[in-house]
Amino acid sequence: MLHNCDDIEIIDAHIHLPSSHSLFPSFYEPIGDNIYSAIRKYFPRMSKEAAINNIKSVYSDHNAEKLILDMNEANIKKAILLLPDLTYALKGVHYSIEDQIEQHINVIKTNPGRFYLMAGVDPRWGKSGFELFKKYVDQKVINGLKLYTPCGYFPNDPKLRPYYELCSDIKMPVIFHTGPTSPVFRFEYSRIQHIDEIAHKYPNINIILAHGGVNNIDEAVELCAYRPNVYLDISGYMMTKDPLGPLKALKNLFKRKVNHKIIFGTDWPIGGYKSKYHGIVKSLLKPENDVITQLSKSEVRMIFNENILELLYQ
Ligand SMILES: [Zn+2]
Repeated sequence: MLHNCDDIEIIDAHIHLPSSHSLFPSFYEPIGDNIYSAIRKYFPRMSKEAAINNIKSVYSDHNAEKLILDMNEANIKKAILLLPDLTYALKGVHYSIEDQIEQHINVIKTNPGRFYLMAGVDPRWGKSGFELFKKYVDQKVINGLKLYTPCGYFPNDPKLRPYYELCSDIKMPVIFHTGPTSPVFRFEYSRIQHIDEIAHKYPNINIILAHGGVNNIDEAVELCAYRPNVYLDISGYMMTKDPLGPLKALKNLFKRKVNHKIIFGTDWPIGGYKSKYHGIVKSLLKPENDVITQLSKSEVRMIFNENILELLYQ
């Protein structure tokens, strides 16, 4: 069965502003180190500096001018900007989380109808951090809470309680980063198993496992299949380590009977040093690539549009 997706408004539910004011050099340079550890074996003439400069070139779009062109080219009308708070954990950061939220709000206001925002504040900023978060929630400019636990706290950290209570009260979704990330952080904090406790304790909070369709898939699918309030996104699919490659891996994921919980996202511009945005999006949709051809029309609609829209706080 072939699909025509033209009548579905595709939402990319996981992108980042391609800006070094929120994705800092102290975050992406260690990613460059890791990439270089692989390419120096295969491309011995490439310097480490060139590898890092490649990544750096992606993060200069502070006002989303290029991002909008990329979205237009890929026929993506709406996307969710994810803004994790890395400011507590990383050194040498020149922009506060408040500066970054304001930067994102500016982008959203300049491009009406194109973006939603899921943002977070590191719970170790304490009461003032929570009040800052709540201020933006009250202004209705934040549509979900983004938690980046690799920064150095677990999902059950008591300092997160006010955030969870607020999200539970107003039914705001929480998206957790799961799996590996920049080598600057420890990966222990982002294991999926730590999230089950929160999903169980707060049934009124819908939880999205970011990258759950790409890393540690078995654990992510298990939570999605057995907890009504847990979802996963497929962001970062082009960077999968699955031996079948990204497209066959996704096709297999779509056979696991959790399509009512799967959310499309790319993680753009992470990985953007080697691919084009429209190429990443189109690779999934092209009928000849046979990724979504097995899905019913209503499942395509769920994955690419409805599942995320039902969750957002608006
Ligand atoms: Zn991301």
